[in-house]
Amino acid sequence: MLAEHDRLARDAAARDEPYEGYLLRLTELEVAARTANATTARIKAAGFPVLKEFDTFDFTAVPSLPKQKGLELARGDWVDQHWNCCLIGGSGTGKTHVATAVGLSLCRIGKRVRFTTAAGLVTQLTEAQQQHRLDKTLAAFDRIDLLIVDELGYLSFHRTGAELLFQVFADRYERRSLLITSNLPFGEWAQIFQGERMTAALLDRLTHQCHIFEMNGESYRFKESMKSKQEKPAKTGKTAK
Ligand code: ADP
Ligand code: MG
Repeated sequence: MLAEHDRLARDAAARDEPYEGYLLRLTELEVAARTANATTARIKAAGFPVLKEFDTFDFTAVPSLPKQKGLELARGDWVDQHWNCCLIGGSGTGKTHVATAVGLSLCRIGKRVRFTTAAGLVTQLTEAQQQHRLDKTLAAFDRIDLLIVDELGYLSFHRTGAELLFQVFADRYERRSLLITSNLPFGEWAQIFQGERMTAALLDRLTHQCHIFEMNGESYRFKESMKSKQEKPAKTGKTAK
């Protein structure tokens, strides 16, 4: 308002605009700026590793995730209803890309989002426990509307780590949403959580109200790098070795 009031006042005076009109225009500008700042702050706080959007995502590469479903996830009604989402599939199939795109669009509609890897989350929780501030850390996660946990399954955890992760997941059941990506099908999750019982209890809660997408197919990363390798010789005119 400080930056714009002078210019708007001159405009209003020149147009003989009533005072209410001037005030409305000035507050509209302020509100728009605040909304934009809040969105930027939410995106920053979410901690995405790289900002990836749906407009650069090729849905034809993952027939199991139709575009309409992706855009539905981005609208975020499922987060209002405290549902979960799991993206399961091999490396390079676009799981992190989709998780980020969904998270970004939720930040834009005012949701509090955190992006973390499973290993990062376990480290954070373990450290918090050691430093006697686990309650505070859990309370902070509780304020998050959507917790994105990427790369569950690449590493297995020690018993305490698995229990802490279980605690966060179980706490969110029917209250807050989780978006989990994993290279492991559910049947193999016992490896991560060390023990069939905890895994069964966790999967039961996680998948109760959950959108599950199996992102199986060729690695997009691999496909792209093969494509560029095939294209390069043509561009440079050299023959491939
Ligand atoms: P994952 O997390 O499943 O291992 P990523 O989401 O990191 O895979 O994808 C690997 C790379 O390929 C990223 O740069 C990502 O943007 C890109 N990528 C993957 N799938 C697609 C797709 N369907 N359309 C566009 N880019 C994609
Ligand atoms: Mg990934």
